[in-house]
Amino acid sequence: MLPLADRLRKASRVTVITGAGVSAASGVPTFRGVDGLWSNFRVEELATAEAFERDPRLVWEWYAWRRRLIAECEPNRAHEVLAAWSRRYPKFSLITQNVDGLHERAGTTNVVRFHGSLWDLSCWQRCAASPVRWRDDTVLFPALPPRCPHCGGLARPDVVWFGEAIDPGVLEESLAAIDCDVCLVVGTSAVVYPAAGLADEARRRGAFTIEINPEPTEATPRFDLAIPGKAEVVLDELESLMMRR
Ligand code: NAD
Repeated sequence: MLPLADRLRKASRVTVITGAGVSAASGVPTFRGVDGLWSNFRVEELATAEAFERDPRLVWEWYAWRRRLIAECEPNRAHEVLAAWSRRYPKFSLITQNVDGLHERAGTTNVVRFHGSLWDLSCWQRCAASPVRWRDDTVLFPALPPRCPHCGGLARPDVVWFGEAIDPGVLEESLAAIDCDVCLVVGTSAVVYPAAGLADEARRRGAFTIEINPEPTEATPRFDLAIPGKAEVVLDELESLMMRR
């Protein structure tokens, strides 16, 4: 850990890519862990445009449940360390697949929300009167599904569903952000593309790449260094070592 802490201390451009594992210690269920969200639900019934088309109320009940659950959660030590780094490094980017908003709540600046946010809504019809997205923090919706305040049609969670493309602006921002000295990938099973390909691209461009995850993933052999451990423990230890001198 000490050589890595040294490397991180000397780096000026650091990029971190996070997944659901970063929020596990906050009590947010991951998708693919033992207690993962998918153990009770079938993904294709909930997180696709087809599912929404078929049964918007069911999909919204699931999202409303996740919003209620996450509203009760607090950022953990992993979010805190990354927030501190975002203030310390001259060039720091955090690309997250998480939609929970916990990085922002921990005070991280420069967050690229690769898959959108649970706290943003957009008009399902993309009506001309509505903005691309709007923030809505409602924890208890008076009625489901919520409506577009502009056309009265259905509103949808502004997250990237399976089968949907990443916003081109977000993709461009992410590709710019992976030009870095050190790229850490924390708490992701690395199976959802294109997010899972970002670290490979960072490595191709010369970054030293590190994975932090208690379990090996199919991407583990492609990293320069893989640290088996929990995000909240490993990042805390790295931060302590970095602050020691
Ligand atoms: P995933 O559920 O597929 O994988 C979670 C990974 O985290 C696993 O590899 C697991 O070993 C690891 N992990 C578990 N506990 C950890 C800990 N304490 N520290 C570090 N790692 C830990 O999650 P993913 O790869 O992010 O899946 C991608 C999709 O899941 C994304 O589209 C994302 O939008 C969505 N998602 C988001 C949230 C959230 O916003 N918090 C939650 C669940 C899923």
